[in-house]
Amino acid sequence: MRSLQTVLSRLVGLVYLIWMLFATPAIAVPNWSYEGSSDPGHWSELQSDYALCAAGQAQSPINLRSQDLSRDHETLSIDYHPAPLDEVNNGRTLTMNYAAGNSLALNNQTYELVQFHFHAPSEHLIDNKASAMELHLVHKNAANELAVLGVMIQPGATNPLLDELWQNMPVVEEENIPQLEIDVNSLLPRDRSFYHYQGSLTTPPCSESVNWAILKQPIQASRQQINTFKSRFHANARPVQALNHRTIQFSDSLS
Ligand SMILES: [Zn+2]
Repeated sequence: MRSLQTVLSRLVGLVYLIWMLFATPAIAVPNWSYEGSSDPGHWSELQSDYALCAAGQAQSPINLRSQDLSRDHETLSIDYHPAPLDEVNNGRTLTMNYAAGNSLALNNQTYELVQFHFHAPSEHLIDNKASAMELHLVHKNAANELAVLGVMIQPGATNPLLDELWQNMPVVEEENIPQLEIDVNSLLPRDRSFYHYQGSLTTPPCSESVNWAILKQPIQASRQQINTFKSRFHANARPVQALNHRTIQFSDSLS
């Protein structure tokens, strides 16, 4: 009797194991990344709504080459204030969700700052050259249109604000460090000369009609600060995309 019970319980266990093996949903499609089979060259194949990543004709980032620039008198004004933020590590970058009340006006269109995050190396190139890092400040207007301000970061002096952000960097993915009070102005260079072009998100779904404003003057961070970020987030930059029929406007801050 006892052995029958043992046989029965083993049988139940075996049936359960087989059920688990076949009933477990198929392994999820790997989400996008920067390396291996889900790297930027494969983003469009991962999900149907990522199609623009390959088919789009106005993609970002791009190489901002002198010979493609048209000089213009566009206007950029930045109105940022010290504010509390949430620091989030999403596994691909470090994102700071900024409190409301900070804005950017690009050609008199106002966009509200939503968040900022970092890439290493830079995504945009200036005359074929990458910078060590690139800061993206993401803004949205009332119609949900995006404007992203890009700031290049090059090795040099230690940036005290980056020290504060790095010290509070969440170690675990999805961990959230709330309510750090910072002044994002200390991540902007003095010279506001900028490149402007129409592009896309540099991450899936690669949606287009993003207004890109890239500041020409870089800010500095120490090599140690750059290396700290790189050791946590390995090469999170999409390669440059074709310019196609687009023009790049360059506006001097003195104009
Ligand atoms: Zn970005």
